[in-house]
Amino acid sequence: MNKKQLSQLPKMDRLMNHPELQEAMQQYGRTFVKSVIQEEVNLRRESILAGVEAVEIGIDRLVFDVKKSCKSGQQPYLKSVINGTGVVLHTNLGRAVLSPKIQEELNQINFGYSNLEYDLEKGERGSRYEHLEADLLTLTGAEAALVVNNNAAAVLLALQTFIKGKEIIVSRGELVEIGGSFRIPEIITLSGGIIREVGTTNKTHLHDYEAAINENTGAILKVHTSNYKVIGFTEAVEMEELAALGKKYQLPVMNDLGSGLLTDLSSYGFPEESTVQMCIEAGCDIVTFSGDKLLGGPQAGIIVGKSEYIDQMKKNQLLRALRVDKMTISALELTLKEYLKPEKLFSSIPTLHLLTLTKEELVGKSIKLKESLELLGDALTVRIVDGFSQVGGGSYPGVQLPTQLVSCQIAGITAEKFERLLRTGDVPIVARIKEGEVQLDVRTISESEITIITAVFEKIIKKMI
Ligand SMILES: *Cc1c(COP(=O)(O)O)cnc(C)c1O
Repeated sequence: MNKKQLSQLPKMDRLMNHPELQEAMQQYGRTFVKSVIQEEVNLRRESILAGVEAVEIGIDRLVFDVKKSCKSGQQPYLKSVINGTGVVLHTNLGRAVLSPKIQEELNQINFGYSNLEYDLEKGERGSRYEHLEADLLTLTGAEAALVVNNNAAAVLLALQTFIKGKEIIVSRGELVEIGGSFRIPEIITLSGGIIREVGTTNKTHLHDYEAAINENTGAILKVHTSNYKVIGFTEAVEMEELAALGKKYQLPVMNDLGSGLLTDLSSYGFPEESTVQMCIEAGCDIVTFSGDKLLGGPQAGIIVGKSEYIDQMKKNQLLRALRVDKMTISALELTLKEYLKPEKLFSSIPTLHLLTLTKEELVGKSIKLKESLELLGDALTVRIVDGFSQVGGGSYPGVQLPTQLVSCQIAGITAEKFERLLRTGDVPIVARIKEGEVQLDVRTISESEITIITAVFEKIIKKMI
């Protein structure tokens, strides 16, 4: 049975000469179309061999599928999506959103030549890091700064510079994993260091750190437990105490802060959390944090601290492999410039704006969205319900931000199907599902997206009726 079906699969040369596929080759290129044909034929061959019944082996269907795959294969994979999840720093959706002002500037800088490493005053080679460094020093009070590709790279560079073959002391309560691929114990091993765990999961004391110091100690590492919370009978050592201990034994004290908070959010109801400035003030020698978490900038890893340590990192060859490109530098520079104007910060940095939207603003957006969707007729039921958004990006675990959800149902289709249709359309909308309804959290939806969402809904409803 298998053999007969396999022999009935259209042959390659027949497909290659098919007039419709010849036409596709004119449009998409021969090499590309050939690879798609091979892929479609192989898929069918595998299904037949696996004993799948009712494999479509007719030439018309094959040609149809090849044309469809050619069309979708030509679209860039990466596209913009509408975030209806309410998770402000959604790592799967690209974390922090940048402002239109930055978008404009990126257009200016990135598509032509720029003075990335050229000193226009002197007419000679300049440094790609210098301008960023100046702003970072003003903002954090540190002596020196450096920027690399992401915070994982920042931690790696710092560890690799100071602890090759040496021990690094870290609390058992801080051996964290972030986002599945960044694990403190593994990054220490990767950098050539030896992990020296101290204390317990819930309690670590200053004397635990001190007892572990020996002639082979390279550094003391403190890690911000960004994405989880140990509650109850817990104790961690204050940054000031650790910094003093490091000073006493002349060991660098590193603080991996994760989310790079440059401004205190506690007046907006967020729990107290150390800002970068507080870590520097407490005497930490090296502080590392992400550019695209609470800072609200592009993906980057920022290192600030004492010159004697940062200078050593600047000389590390590894830096060349972790260096940031001009897009990152210009987006980060503009983000930092906004922090120099704190009065406007909560409107100029989209991440901070979305995290601090007022109830009135959320209600206003939800009513606008609901009214726009209600024009689509009776097949769609829309209501507004209270709910909660999350910060995301491993920041502020457990914090629930009150929000407004626009909850929708289309007659005759399940919420799962509706959600999939939203997610897989030309303009993908990522939504939540709750109790048989599809919910859009208006926190992460901009007013300008309401028209687009309405058009997507309209298309789905038309298809369904
Ligand atoms: C997020 C995080 C990292 C990794 O940062 P990326 O910028 O995603 O590479 C490292 N350490 C901590 C504590 C974090 O929260």
